[in-house]
Amino acid sequence: MASIVRTSTGVRITGINEVPPLAPPITALPPATILEALDQRDVHDKWAVQSVDTVDNGRSLAASILRGEARAVSDGSFKNNMGTSSSILFHTKSTDPLRIISVNSVPGNCDEQSAYRSELAGISGSLSILAAVCTVHDVHTGSVTIGLDGEQAMIAASEDWPVSPERPDYDLLTDIRAKVKRLPIQIRWKWIKGHQDDFGSQALLDEWAQANIYVDSMAKAYWNHINTEGHRPSPQGFGDESWSISYQGRKLSRIDKIPLYNGIMEPDSKAYWQKRGQMTADAITKIDWTLVGKAFKNLTTAKKRRVTKHATGHFGCGKMMHIWQFQDHAECPRCPEPLEDPPHILTCPAPSAHLCWTTALTGLEGWMTKQHTMPELQSAVLKCLHEWRHPNPHRCSRSSITSRYGLRAAVLEQDSIGWYNFLMGQPSARWSEVQQRYYEWLQRKNTGKAWTQALIKKIWAVSWDMWDHRNKVRTSSITPAKLRAIEALNHQIELQFDLGKEGLSHKDHHWLSESCAHVFTYDSEHKSQWLSSIDLARVRFDNQHEFEASSIRRQREFMESWMHRNRTRQGPVQNYR
Ligand SMILES: [Zn+2]
Repeated sequence: MASIVRTSTGVRITGINEVPPLAPPITALPPATILEALDQRDVHDKWAVQSVDTVDNGRSLAASILRGEARAVSDGSFKNNMGTSSSILFHTKSTDPLRIISVNSVPGNCDEQSAYRSELAGISGSLSILAAVCTVHDVHTGSVTIGLDGEQAMIAASEDWPVSPERPDYDLLTDIRAKVKRLPIQIRWKWIKGHQDDFGSQALLDEWAQANIYVDSMAKAYWNHINTEGHRPSPQGFGDESWSISYQGRKLSRIDKIPLYNGIMEPDSKAYWQKRGQMTADAITKIDWTLVGKAFKNLTTAKKRRVTKHATGHFGCGKMMHIWQFQDHAECPRCPEPLEDPPHILTCPAPSAHLCWTTALTGLEGWMTKQHTMPELQSAVLKCLHEWRHPNPHRCSRSSITSRYGLRAAVLEQDSIGWYNFLMGQPSARWSEVQQRYYEWLQRKNTGKAWTQALIKKIWAVSWDMWDHRNKVRTSSITPAKLRAIEALNHQIELQFDLGKEGLSHKDHHWLSESCAHVFTYDSEHKSQWLSSIDLARVRFDNQHEFEASSIRRQREFMESWMHRNRTRQGPVQNYR
């Protein structure tokens, strides 16, 4: 490289030097103003300062941070599912002309907004300004005290115990904690008693309280401003949040497992129950699922299993036992029905099943009477259940049912859902409304919802009673299937006696020492054992016989070859055979 000067005739070289290395690539210039610094922030963090007022570009605040005297006070405002916040950063007085004021509106779904979330948003505002001031003025040391009147928000933001993702405002809280850690300066926290102006003159209050009153009014003013503009809060991610979950296109502020689970599983499970219960898409929406869920939750684990098995039809009724190949038929143990499906457990026409049903319904009736159930409702339910079990063309006319408190509509709705589904614990949501209005008329404090919840448990008990009865019959009495099994066993026993003692070794003859009629008197298990024992004895005899036959053959072959050898060596020998 050469340095030159211009002359009248051209240029003259004044010096020569080596070529310096290439200049480093131009990087983004550090921000010169607070506004530039805020503008260069992560796009997800820009919400925290939506409007800012700074006079000296944060110079005096930077100086007070270095001296460890800076203060930041924030407060939130929350109303009608919408939140705003405001923060002020100053040195000694909130009225300091060089203070920095900012406002923001709180992101998040409408149902996740709260006064608490607005308090947190105020801290976010203060942290954003502090980060901008430190960047612009190259501050790497010093401290600030952040003050707010929301004690819970302050504790949650300042501590470092792990935050559960189920906790409200998990997203904002983790973002704030990360931002506190990232600031190059030390943060101290101070709780300010809120609304101290309510109790006396503002002039007597300290700077913290006065700043608190100021930001409180600023947050409210900003709320009114955005409300007039028709703003509605919406969720968004935050720069230091690290991870988040969105559901149906909206980010969640926390992981609330139950609604999330319901949101994911509900469409599938409703489609299942619709198919299983043979319902229309409309009928499935009429079931009081909330109360079904509550009643279910209150059951013991064993009973939960019972309800699920019965309602889904996956339990040991004849049909399933046949499908699972535990038995070679699907018969009902109580009556001649060849296919015992889940509804048959309740509709079985056997006299003892009928008696069990009547007893269960009498119990239900007694319970309903005790619960001060609306008498017309009680008789309508019992009549409909009776008609479901004994279908006939002349069922009770629905128009004869009173429409008082919406009873007729409830019966019609249950008709569309189905009475078997009612017995499986899927009642119409209208029942609790009817009973609620009846309780109100009675001037009782009971609620229709509690009544329905208990009713669901009672009707589950009806199907369990029927199932228990069926099982008792199956184990204690002779069913057609059992009879067939006994006949098959007896036939095999007879065959064994026909075969007789031939084919049995002497020590096994005792199996036939009793008469055939005597063996018939054994129970099924004993008969099966007898049959397998004698079968085994015959197999043993055959094996033994074969073994003996083969060993005799070998001996004979040996003798013959020995005699042949002797004949060839010594001439003819006497034949011993
Ligand atoms: Zn039956």
